[in-house]
Amino acid sequence: MNQKVVLITGCSSGIGLSLAVRIAKDEKKRFMVYATMRNVSRGAALVEAAGKTLGRTLEIKQLDVCDEKSIKACVDSLPERKVDILISNAGMGLIGPIECQTIDEMKTVMDTNFFGLVRLLQEVLPDMKKRKKGHIVVISSVMGIQGILFNDVYAASKFAVEGFCESLAVQALRFNLNISLIEPGPVITEFERKVFEEGMKVDLSKADKVTADMFTNIYLKNYSQIFETLGQTPEDIAEHTLKIITMDNPPFRHQTNTLYTPMTTLKYADPNGDLPIDTFYKMVFEHDKVFNASLNFLKMLRWRSRKSFTIDKDKDKDKAS
Ligand code: NAD
Repeated sequence: MNQKVVLITGCSSGIGLSLAVRIAKDEKKRFMVYATMRNVSRGAALVEAAGKTLGRTLEIKQLDVCDEKSIKACVDSLPERKVDILISNAGMGLIGPIECQTIDEMKTVMDTNFFGLVRLLQEVLPDMKKRKKGHIVVISSVMGIQGILFNDVYAASKFAVEGFCESLAVQALRFNLNISLIEPGPVITEFERKVFEEGMKVDLSKADKVTADMFTNIYLKNYSQIFETLGQTPEDIAEHTLKIITMDNPPFRHQTNTLYTPMTTLKYADPNGDLPIDTFYKMVFEHDKVFNASLNFLKMLRWRSRKSFTIDKDKDKDKAS
């Protein structure tokens, strides 16, 4: 059987784990998944979720996106070093006022989220070019196209990813390669929990009172509610990604959350860039009660429908409207 080789990074938890399992459990067995993680001793959750696919359509391998040697060793260990579909998923977040963050913390985010992708492509892209075949899928974020309050460095890392891929996509076409950016809004994973816990621990002594208050009493206060209301599951993102990797002509950008689309549309509606900034400002500081009421309303609708947002369901909705 002519299975496509899929290499995924950051599979010990969250979206990476769901992606690896969903693709390995493909009903038609179209894929051989190499699910990689920094530390293979953290593979218990993946082993359990993978079930019978382990050793058949799924194998676990070590890969740290911040270490070129580990990337090379992993790719060298694959039959003929062949990767048909590379899914760059590993990433980390950082929230808080920039005056309370160190340059080293910021560099770690850039090193993981941006240079991690660059390192992967330095290893995989030349072979894909030679074969004139391959699909590079990057788990970006809506924050790759729109900045969000107190996510300055994380958004910068995802903007870097998007600019990098947009530039590369033109060259890739010349070699018959596809690049796709998957842009989720909030997703309920370890990421959300870790980022929130780190946010609660931020030493705000270097921030002025207004900034500290904005971070604690506006941002952190609303954080969980935004995830509860708009958040997708990692399984939803896996479903969207499976759809993208099985398309003949996959799109360059794909947003996974229709509830979030009106926000990102603002970005494209005003070339001056003021519209999204003014709207976010008003939402946070002037119409916060309306904003909270809208979130509560959406939460109630989601609770009543008890549905998650998947590509097929969204399509059905589109057809119905
Ligand atoms: P997660 O924390 O569960 O997963 C991130 C994974 O990356 C972890 O398994 C972690 O161990 C791994 N990782 C971190 N540094 C690594 C390194 N140097 N080498 C290899 N692996 C490393 O969070 P998640 O939500 O599943 O995040 C996956 C991707 O989705 C990230 O790129 C993130 O930016 C993106 N994303 C997440 C959300 C969200 O709200 N959770 C929204 C949009 C985009």
